[in-house]
Amino acid sequence: MRYMAAKEQRIAIIGGGPGGLMLALILQKKGIRSTIYERETNDTNAQRGGSLDIHEESGQLALQEAGLLKPFRAVARYEGQDMRLYDKHGQLHINNVANVDVPGSRPEIDRGILCGLLLNALDPGCIRYGYKLVEALPLYDGKHELRFNNGHTDIVDLVVGADGAFSRIRPLLTEAVAEYTGISRVDLRIDTAEHPELAAFNSRGSMFSLGDHKSISGQLNGDGHIRVGLSFRADREWQDTSGISFDRPEKAKEQLLTYFDDWAEPLKDYIRCADGAVTSRRIYTLPIGLRWVSKPGVTLIGDAAHLAPPAGDGVNLAMRDAAELACSVDRHYDELDRAIEAYESNMYAYSSESARMSYDNFMLMLSDDAVGKVTDLLKKALK
Ligand SMILES: Cc1cc2nc3c(=O)[nH]c(=O)nc-3n(C[C@H](O)[C@H](O)[C@H](O)COP(=O)(O)OP(=O)(O)OC[C@H]3O[C@@H](n4cnc5c(N)ncnc54)[C@H](O)[C@@H]3O)c2cc1C
Repeated sequence: MRYMAAKEQRIAIIGGGPGGLMLALILQKKGIRSTIYERETNDTNAQRGGSLDIHEESGQLALQEAGLLKPFRAVARYEGQDMRLYDKHGQLHINNVANVDVPGSRPEIDRGILCGLLLNALDPGCIRYGYKLVEALPLYDGKHELRFNNGHTDIVDLVVGADGAFSRIRPLLTEAVAEYTGISRVDLRIDTAEHPELAAFNSRGSMFSLGDHKSISGQLNGDGHIRVGLSFRADREWQDTSGISFDRPEKAKEQLLTYFDDWAEPLKDYIRCADGAVTSRRIYTLPIGLRWVSKPGVTLIGDAAHLAPPAGDGVNLAMRDAAELACSVDRHYDELDRAIEAYESNMYAYSSESARMSYDNFMLMLSDDAVGKVTDLLKKALK
């Protein structure tokens, strides 16, 4: 630990997602103690999302800072960068085949495996499961009192909100809230061992099919299942008012197929062949370019700071924030206010650009002539 500092700073991180875990780990590497408080009773990262592409300039940079770039590269799926774009008639518009001999800069890894790498390197004593933050009260000198649902309280010098889209820490800094984008998504799952024909149709990475302001996408995960997403423009209440029986998967699949009546058969197979739960979620965003007036003793990283629709950057930004904040705390350990300000002004610059791009690209997928527009965009990006 930091014996040279005037005093040991008490640092709490709310949330044990990729952002919170990465922050605690890089602080640990720098000899700075912190405590993660996670509301779930164990690590649930594997159940909360599929494969993630990890970018060289952000996610991989953080992994390097954490000393995990080599183990990451050993398990990353470079072939997962394959990407196919179809229209609703099943006509292929883009077929990008990753050349694994020339590793690309955005390999894939399953969320559970990524978080497992971080957890394995982290001192187990620094993470507490089953601690849901209920309230954070500002005290004096930047200190905050944290209150948890299990009755535990703590007083800390720095509290970092790494608690995602509906952060309980964010209201200490801004009135901004996550707003519904007008797009809802239904998640399904296919076992490729039982459906090799879909594995072949999908590619070794991701497949997108677009049309009629809707999409069917498939993402091959490391364990061989395809994570299927159906996206719709829909009222906020759609999942409750659509009449779809989400609690009866076979019935729900029949009902969902009616939304894609005139789509090509292999695309409809992504619904027919799904097995297990059919779940629905709303896609939210924070205002693009959100900023706040810096306050002592509190800051945000990841989705808590700059939630944007899922377009491939969220986890990368969360990990980059973690690295930037950890380095800033290390540089200004005895002046945490300076550490927070330096981190925030840096973070606003890269995150607002990325949030704008994520929002625009996500909306493009369900726009008029989405296939034409996305084809043009991808052709430029893949040049
Ligand atoms: C469908 C979908 C697909 C996505 N695909 C991609 C992708 O391909 N690439 C990509 O980069 N990003 C993707 N994302 C986004 C990515 O998952 C997030 O940006 C990323 O997980 C953010 O990390 P985080 O650590 O900030 O927050 P989170 O991962 O949301 O973690 C927050 C943690 O805080 C905990 N928590 C919340 N409230 C409290 C509380 N009150 N007390 C204690 N703990 C609390 C939660 O349990 C959770 O563990 C996707 C998101 C979705 C929804």
